[in-house]
Amino acid sequence: MNSEKLFAESKKVMPAGVSSPVRAFKPYPFFVEKGVGSKIYDVDGNSYIDYCLAYGPLILGHANEKLVQDVSAQLAIGSAYGAPTENEIKLANEVIDRIPAAEMVRFCNSGTEATMSAIRVARGFTGKNKIVKFEGGYHGAHDYCLVKGGSGAACKPDSAGIPEDTTKNTLSVPFNDEEAMIELIEKEGDNIACIIMEVVMGNIGCVEPKNGFLEFLRKITKENNIILIFDEVITGFRLSKGGAGQYFNIKPDMVTLGKIVGGGLPMGAFCGKKEIMEIVAPNGPVYQAGTFSGNPISVQAGLSTFKQLDSEFYKNLNGNGDYLRKNIKSIIEDLKLDVSPVGLGSMFQIYFNPNEVLNYDDAKASDADRFLVYFRELLKEGVFIPPSQFECNFISSAHTKEDLDKTLEAINKSLKVAFEI
Ligand SMILES: *Cc1c(COP(=O)(O)O)cnc(C)c1O
Repeated sequence: MNSEKLFAESKKVMPAGVSSPVRAFKPYPFFVEKGVGSKIYDVDGNSYIDYCLAYGPLILGHANEKLVQDVSAQLAIGSAYGAPTENEIKLANEVIDRIPAAEMVRFCNSGTEATMSAIRVARGFTGKNKIVKFEGGYHGAHDYCLVKGGSGAACKPDSAGIPEDTTKNTLSVPFNDEEAMIELIEKEGDNIACIIMEVVMGNIGCVEPKNGFLEFLRKITKENNIILIFDEVITGFRLSKGGAGQYFNIKPDMVTLGKIVGGGLPMGAFCGKKEIMEIVAPNGPVYQAGTFSGNPISVQAGLSTFKQLDSEFYKNLNGNGDYLRKNIKSIIEDLKLDVSPVGLGSMFQIYFNPNEVLNYDDAKASDADRFLVYFRELLKEGVFIPPSQFECNFISSAHTKEDLDKTLEAINKSLKVAFEI
């Protein structure tokens, strides 16, 4: 039980023994020895088919061979320069070629930085202070977005240490609710700088926009001079070559990126229309900076990843997603379970909830305790998913048909245990 021992040690020196909260699941998390392809190996000699994939970035799986070569070569010639490189231009062009809304890009170090900066840019550009997010939407761990929703009203901080003054300009409404948004914009439209949203809500499981909802948002934001920001930290380069904007054919004003853009290394980016991006420092008055921004290691990892992400890649990856979801659905039907399998592309989840999940309140009505039984049973069967149905499961290109079939067997067994069949 090396993981158990290490957890006891780590708790002495790091809060809850981890560097990010979701990792601290009970009774103790497995400690990782290595990741290879579709699998992650713990220090106790177990291996798991990995559907957590570091919560999204690893679209090529662990330790992709080509990427390891490219990054190692870069590491040998320096890891940070504090000066620009040609590879940044190449990566910027990759982003611009892929993301329909991207005309210019600024690289930063995480998704959190990307959304924080994009919001600042939107405020600087419009001269307005308020921002709107959807209840349950996650945009990183910074003060403006770490809020408790309250329909239409000013949000309350969702963490100690955030002054109410900081969140009084953050408003929230339920996802997929046009009326709530119309009402809010009628009241506050003149003060709203931006709407920031996950196009597919990946931090409360996997919730898709209702038909017409994105079109509605695009129209109402245009009419009211509100910047529409798609937070594609998860969906960017995952749902399609051009992310969720391309998948649903809607062009926002700005897009925030993270996770996949750095090929498994720390990286974020925000991009958008040229006239908006031109106001970023030192060109314009909106300050944004970072010591490690555009660092050559993450940039190289991003470039190596993009080299492998062509249209054929998404056909295969999403085909595997369809295969897995179709079979999960049959298992659920065969077992006659009242749960809701969801997902699209290479994203999937099962809500332990008999009803359709359209927003955060619906998601919260799911059976979390039973899900944990399912999660632990899957681990025993050698399958690792995030320890919560309010996260999304991902497939990488390293996952084989054999992996998927083993996983389906494990899901079948684990559902039976969770529902005492
Ligand atoms: C993960 C995530 C973030 C935060 O990114 P970090 O790199 O963890 O800071 C922001 N938005 C969304 C949609 C995310 O899933």
